[in-house]
Order: sequence, then structure tokens, then C-alpha cells
Amino acid sequence: HHPTLTKNKVGYTRRDYEGPVSTLCAGCGHDSISAAIIQACWELDIEPHRVAKLSGIGCSSKAPTYFLGASHGFNTVHGRMPSVLTGANLANRELMYLGVSGDGDSASIGLGQFANAMRRGVNMAYIVMNNGVYGLTKGQFSATADRGSKSKKGAINTDNPIDLVGIALQLGATYVARSFSGDKAQLVPLIKGALAHGGAAFIDVISPCVTFNNHGGSTKSYEYVRQHDEAVSVIDFVAPGGELSTEYAPGEVVEVAQQDGSVLRMRKLHEDYDPTDRYAAMSYMNSHAARGEVVTGLLYLDPLPTDLHTALNTCAQPLNTLGTAQLCPGSKALE
Ligand code: SF4
Ligand code: MG
Repeated sequence: HHPTLTKNKVGYTRRDYEGPVSTLCAGCGHDSISAAIIQACWELDIEPHRVAKLSGIGCSSKAPTYFLGASHGFNTVHGRMPSVLTGANLANRELMYLGVSGDGDSASIGLGQFANAMRRGVNMAYIVMNNGVYGLTKGQFSATADRGSKSKKGAINTDNPIDLVGIALQLGATYVARSFSGDKAQLVPLIKGALAHGGAAFIDVISPCVTFNNHGGSTKSYEYVRQHDEAVSVIDFVAPGGELSTEYAPGEVVEVAQQDGSVLRMRKLHEDYDPTDRYAAMSYMNSHAARGEVVTGLLYLDPLPTDLHTALNTCAQPLNTLGTAQLCPGSKALE
């Protein structure tokens, strides 16, 4: 059998989790995240009609059109996906809720909605496709844009960025992770864990906009250099329209070359990282941020979910780094 035609335990092929062909720009990171969502749902043996996918406005929020064509979908208004999702969740507890949003949608206009959804522990997997720009309206800075980064037209961003991972940790989300659109080995298990988690699961996914944020000078741009020990070599630089794959091992760093000569570093958590301490996660993340590193992986998992976030299931297995693992080999509720 062709791999995409192999049936999972509930009798669906990977193709059954796809949607129509994407109209996003060729090479957009969001399409890689859609592919990871398709893979995660197929591997978890979730029947497509048991998923409700909701989004706001933006290129990211168009993305759900292109996966899980046989699920329930609602493209809501700008920054208001969490309210609509909360209402749907209250009305029907039988579905799995997947919220898809962007940095403009969640960190700018929808910040209050995002914060309160995390605070209330709404049972959902909340994925932000984070590129630091408003791609749909031609590349204005969003609230996650790096200070000092340049827009395509040359404007300098003088505002400080908002880190949604920090907010999710602060406000009580019970599953908090960060990843990169080009790292399927990390992203697929993280999405599986988020879907199987009963509670507010948040994943911030750095997802380059090849059209408006591919000019250097930004942490979300497309020039990658890997640093392993002291050796630096260029890896996986892919021109717009190409397929980006940048998988790196636990503990390793991927460096993003900046136009001004500085670099942004993404560091994957070590396998022995303990994600069960919220305050340790904050301080770990902040200490790396102070050194200019963005940590990727499963930063926090509530070890003892309460009845406030029971819903579908809990992840029985201790999760260490998202890099490798088997975060949730399956969910009891899904069997
Ligand atoms: Fe993706 Fe940017 Fe194109 Fe939008 S404008 S589809 S974010 S590459
Ligand atoms: Mg954006």
C-alpha cells in the first residue's frame, strides 16, 4: 500500500484527513502545520467527524480549510475563536476541539480571548501559527514581531514582542509547548499530546511567512544555521516554494541568521527535562530567553489534571521532551 492509503484502526487513510488543495503561498509554514495535524489525527485514530476545528481571521485561520475536510469547522471573527469554541464545547462535549489561530489573531486583537481561554482551562488543543506578521493584510508587524525586526518595506519594529507561551504558563494552561513548522518529528507528537490532553493545551508554532517575513532580520525568517557544539554549518536553507524540513535533536540548537548579523537560537529541550513544574518551566524558558534562545518542546504538562479539565482523557505517560517521544501513544477515550 501507498503510505497515504494505509488505514488506521478506525478505517481511515491519511487522505481521509486531508482537505482541498491549499491556496496559501507555496512554502508557507502553515501548510506544514496542517500536514502535521493530518498526521497526528490519523495516528491517533480519531474519526474525522469527531473533531471540531475553529479559527479566527488571517492566513493561519484559513488553514483549517485545508485539513480534516470531513470534520466540523467554523471560521469565526477576528480574535474571537476562543469564545465560539468555548460555546461549542459547552453545547457538545463529545467532540474534540481544535482551535487554530495566528499571532495577529491571538496576540493582538484576540489577546483577551486567548488569556481567558487559558485561564478557564477550556478543553481544546489551541495552535498558534506564529510568523510575527499579518500575512493576509500584507505584512504589518503583529504583537509577536521581534523588536528591531524590519518589515518588507524597511520599517523597524520598536515595540516589544508578546510571548504567548509565557502567558499560557502564567494563566494556568495545563499543556504548554512551542515548536517549529519545519520540525515534523517534534510537532506531530506535540499535536497528538495536545489533542489527547483533557484541558487547555497550547502550542505556539514558529511558522515562517515566505511572502512577507522572509527577508532576514526576524526570528521567524528562513535562513537557518545549525550550531552543534562549536561547529556552525548551514542547514536546510530552502527558498520560498520549497519544502522546509529542519529536524534537530533534543538539546540541539538551530540558529536563525539575522540580517543585522545577530542570530536567534531555537533550542530543543533535553530528554531529561522535567515538564511537570510550572514555575520551573517559566524560569527555564526565561533564563534561555535572557541568553537569546527560544526553547522548543513540551515546556509544561500538569501532572495531575483536575476535574476542571477532564473531558476526553489525560495523557497517561510522563512526557519528557517533545523531540522524540511518544507523547501520548493514544488516548483511552479514543480507543
Ligand atoms: Fe503564508 Fe505569508 Fe502567504 Fe499568508 S502571506 S499564506 S502567512 S506565506
Ligand atoms: Mg501572523
